[in-house]
Amino acid sequence: MDKNLFYSYSQYLKQLYGRPAFRVGIDAGFSCPNRADGRNSAGCSYCDAFGARAMYQRTEGAISDDVDENLREEIRLQTATAVNFLKKRYKAEIFLLYLQAFSNTHADLQHLRAVYDYSLSLGDYRELIISTRPDCIDRKKAELLASYKERGLDVWVELGLQSSNNETLKRIDRGHSSEDFIRSYRLLKEYGIKTAVHLIFGLPGEGLSDIISSCEFTADLNPDGVKFHNLHIPYNSPLYEEYRRGLVDVPTTKEHLEYVIAGIERMPESTVIMRLTCDSQENERAAPKDFMKKTEFYNLLRTEMEMRNTFQGRLYKYNLI
Ligand code: SF4
Repeated sequence: MDKNLFYSYSQYLKQLYGRPAFRVGIDAGFSCPNRADGRNSAGCSYCDAFGARAMYQRTEGAISDDVDENLREEIRLQTATAVNFLKKRYKAEIFLLYLQAFSNTHADLQHLRAVYDYSLSLGDYRELIISTRPDCIDRKKAELLASYKERGLDVWVELGLQSSNNETLKRIDRGHSSEDFIRSYRLLKEYGIKTAVHLIFGLPGEGLSDIISSCEFTADLNPDGVKFHNLHIPYNSPLYEEYRRGLVDVPTTKEHLEYVIAGIERMPESTVIMRLTCDSQENERAAPKDFMKKTEFYNLLRTEMEMRNTFQGRLYKYNLI
């Protein structure tokens, strides 16, 4: 643990690989069932049209439904851009493939296998990391993901929960319940897949006690990793209209600091704290406008935790739920 404060992701990767390892995040052309036309929904209320794509992944041109030459070209281009950047900026040597945008298990098995195989063939990867939703995991998909472990890869799934409160999940139009989440989570664990839980702090109608409930719910599952995000409101999202009318707001740095400390204190010692804040393009978000930079927040968190003499797991209690 970081001076006994919390178990950070960089610490975890250094322990595992002996030096820093870097994610190569790509948009492999998947969509999201929560944004599908037939559902009559614009997706989660905080979601913009990019579905968590990083800027360098936003190449022009439609991505087709199969692993045809267009899709291959898109994936090649994104991979090359990311790897070149990481090598130049950080002298990176160890790479982890990260399928990040939208729901990366939302397709039939054949297509999933083809996309994963092709993407993995473009680099010397140590891990396959898949970001997805609870309603896009079933036994066959868990089996497929687990099969990559036999090829010597570490396999992670990042599963979105956001809140354990079903009322909040309805309010933000997540399109799944906390029970759906638990079903998918257990299925992944049955196949020995490392799983990280996504949580968003400051969702509409939620305060510290709701956030603590979500953290305790998550801690009870003893996840391999957890990602904390402060709510961001992109202009291009359904939540923006509510924000514009003054009906919702985002957490301040000070509020988010309290939420993150409360979350860390309740996580088991072995859970990797993979993220502390949300990333989005400044010109694309209505709020927050004045949130601290990532490294500043990390330093503030360490100082505050030291001052309070607190640490990861201090308030962890097994079997709360
Ligand atoms: S699951 Fe992800 S991509 Fe789909 S609507 Fe929600 S935030 Fe957007």
